[in-house]
Amino acid sequence: MMDTEVAISGAGPTGLLLGAELALAGVRVRILERQRERHGQSRALTLHPRSIEILELRGIADRFLALGRTVPSWHFAGLPRELDFSALDTRHGYTLFLEQARTEQLLEERARELGVEISYGHEVVSLAQDDDGVTVAGVGPDGDFRLRAAYLVGCDGGRSKVRESAGIGFPGSDGTMSSMLGDFAVVDHDEIAAAGRTPVLIAPLSGGLTRFVVTSPERMRVPAAEPVTFDEFRETLTNLAGTSFGIAEPRWLSRFGNATRLAENYRSGRVFVAGDAAHIHFPAAGQGLNTGLQDAMNLGWKLAAEIRGWAPAGLLDTYHAERFPVGQLVTDNTQAQTLLLELTLVPEYRRPVTALRELLNSLLELPEVNARLAGLVSALSTSYPAPDGDPLVGARLPDRMLGSEGAKLVHSGTFGYAGDGAAEVAEGWKGRITAADSLPENVREVLVRPDGHIAWVRRENEPPDAALREAAITAWAGAPERTAVR
Ligand SMILES: Cc1cc2nc3c(=O)[nH]c(=O)nc-3n(C[C@H](O)[C@H](O)[C@H](O)COP(=O)(O)OP(=O)(O)OC[C@H]3O[C@@H](n4cnc5c(N)ncnc54)[C@H](O)[C@@H]3O)c2cc1C
Repeated sequence: MMDTEVAISGAGPTGLLLGAELALAGVRVRILERQRERHGQSRALTLHPRSIEILELRGIADRFLALGRTVPSWHFAGLPRELDFSALDTRHGYTLFLEQARTEQLLEERARELGVEISYGHEVVSLAQDDDGVTVAGVGPDGDFRLRAAYLVGCDGGRSKVRESAGIGFPGSDGTMSSMLGDFAVVDHDEIAAAGRTPVLIAPLSGGLTRFVVTSPERMRVPAAEPVTFDEFRETLTNLAGTSFGIAEPRWLSRFGNATRLAENYRSGRVFVAGDAAHIHFPAAGQGLNTGLQDAMNLGWKLAAEIRGWAPAGLLDTYHAERFPVGQLVTDNTQAQTLLLELTLVPEYRRPVTALRELLNSLLELPEVNARLAGLVSALSTSYPAPDGDPLVGARLPDRMLGSEGAKLVHSGTFGYAGDGAAEVAEGWKGRITAADSLPENVREVLVRPDGHIAWVRRENEPPDAALREAAITAWAGAPERTAVR
């Protein structure tokens, strides 16, 4: 007897979105969260374009946009020339400044609206899996607990107990450098305004707080696990910027490093890992949370399909096949960015690395180069491997192709289909496919996955072929309820 269909360890952004995605598809979900309550601190401050798009795919982007502030460009490796998100092929060409605590609060609201059960104060300690399910053991407010689920997903961060207990390797490198962050209730705003360009990152937060992030040659070799003291922070800031900007009343002091690791497999039987449980890296260009949301969006509908019994063979394995390469891209580009930062702080490399940065900065002035990196960091260029030669297959459906109608197609978490015989297709795969009338340019038929990526297209110059269409749809959405869809 199962206690729940899917258990998720961790109610961070990844676990919360995954829970919501599964519940949207009618799956019973329980999230186990170690903390007794939310601590309210925010590591991440941004949501990039693809994250906004996926929220729009579910009709909830407005909730996030209402609380944040949009900026049209974003940095890469801290180079002065920024990535121009506004030039990208999207209606959401900006990054949204929104503190992680607020993102989590909105995702939790969404998950609860859909009926996800979230159990705070429940720490997952171990797991055992067999052919039918997973037994999760942990410690809760009332002592030890055991829970039986058909599947378990570890969204429990970089030190994931689920990953470890499932025996999933986490190869990579330990950190070589660290930075410090401090959130302060009291600062000298006039001094900040007068400072101009400084080597310190300064950002206003909600509640009147101000965040400072510092990386200094003197302190960057301190291990990330070592606590930060106020005196250390103030002295480092003063050495770097010539002033301590009047900081007082610290609310949060923390150190983070560039340890970089990637799960060798995102799946082990009935156990999956997503978000930081699958990949850790320095927060260069703000990609970790965003990548976790996109992992959740990829896994949710596939796991739901398996549980509902209509998943085509091998669908669940496409989670690793599609998301692992994205994890590689993110861990690679963050390592490259971090090196460009780290080496400017090492005296013997300062000159050549500064020259390299200047060179890269000049390259970023070329629109094509800028767009290439902006596509990578925004995740808009993420395209999943597809056997079909058509470049559209595997890519996201650009939102401008169908306008807001395109997003509405998959609001309810189904596949979207537009083109010939739409009503018949929707009837054949009832509840799995939503039909639309509008079509992208140069396309006669298109099947869009629940995560907004294109599963199949027929171009205008290709003849209609009902058998081919049925096979293509079946490959992703499973066998039709009725076969007479030709
Ligand atoms: C300084 C800094 C700045 C950053 N800025 C950005 C940014 O601007 N943009 C961006 O995209 N990313 C950024 N990141 C990265 C981002 O914060 C993480 O990638 C993101 O939090 C990962 O989300 P997650 O849900 O996968 O994991 P987490 O947020 O780590 O959540 C994991 C959850 O699991 C719980 N948990 C852990 N173990 C257990 C257990 N055994 N049982 C039950 N529950 C458990 C934890 O309590 C936690 O709530 C930044 C990181 C840092 C350090």
